[in-house]
Amino acid sequence: MSSLDQDQHLQPSCRDKTTVSSDSSEGCKLAKQPLQGLKLASHAVLEEAQQKGRLKCLKCGGSRMFFCYTCCSLVGVSVQEIPLIKLPVKIDIIKHPNETDGKSTAIHAKILAPSDVTIYTYPCIPDYKTDKVVLVFPGPGAISVQSMLQCLRDRSNSRSPDSSDEPFIKRLKTEEVQGATHTAENPESRTPDGTESLESRVYPLQRVVFIDSTWNQTNKISTDERLQDLLQVELKMRKTCFWRHQKGKPDTYLATIEAIYYFLRDFHDHYLDHEYSGEYDNLLFFYSFLHSVINKAKASAGKL
Ligand SMILES: [Zn+2]
Repeated sequence: MSSLDQDQHLQPSCRDKTTVSSDSSEGCKLAKQPLQGLKLASHAVLEEAQQKGRLKCLKCGGSRMFFCYTCCSLVGVSVQEIPLIKLPVKIDIIKHPNETDGKSTAIHAKILAPSDVTIYTYPCIPDYKTDKVVLVFPGPGAISVQSMLQCLRDRSNSRSPDSSDEPFIKRLKTEEVQGATHTAENPESRTPDGTESLESRVYPLQRVVFIDSTWNQTNKISTDERLQDLLQVELKMRKTCFWRHQKGKPDTYLATIEAIYYFLRDFHDHYLDHEYSGEYDNLLFFYSFLHSVINKAKASAGKL
């Protein structure tokens, strides 16, 4: 094993369940060769940094390669040399305090999309508006990305206490009802031919929450009462290509950066009106490089 493998050992945090969908063949294709055909920035800068080896983080003095997972800053690479990505929705990542930072892929998202990604360390988490935020977690009531916005709109529009028996509509707390913004919802902007604007279609989704921890810890966080009322969304079946997924877990347990990427792919496919052309592929900029480094190391050790 290379030192990278040791240091960058990452734990998958999100599990997928099979969801029957019309484009499952695409899902299978992606699952077989998940890192093939991505539109990525050149890895030359990472190759150069790798040649130089580990360097001291200027902030904490830790020995790091590419970035410091403690300080969330680049090491041996400048910000101009790596891709910066704008995401169509804000992402929150809730990290378990016991999770070793160096093993987490959450930091990749923060470094590559700094203005759209926030990392929280559990139990410090925001007070979420339940009708504007979803949690990516395959719980028993989880729905698909495709159904997500309609469910949020139903929740948002649901003001009757009697509606609590409907599957995806939960009773809103009084203060949330008072604080809800009816005005942003304009039914006339949604037309059957799908010509509505981007803003009206992504409404009311404001934020997507991911949990970054081992599977057992993930269950603990997901059952926190502050996250209980969030709509849970699961991804289409995707297989992880994480080089060391958790022992005994199926390969559909995704690394956090994979889960974020696949969520955004589904989101784009269902809610944005232009064809996907690699806009978020660079979220896997570090991940795909590390993946290839590990595979090369394994190959040279005769393990592949
Ligand atoms: Zn540091």
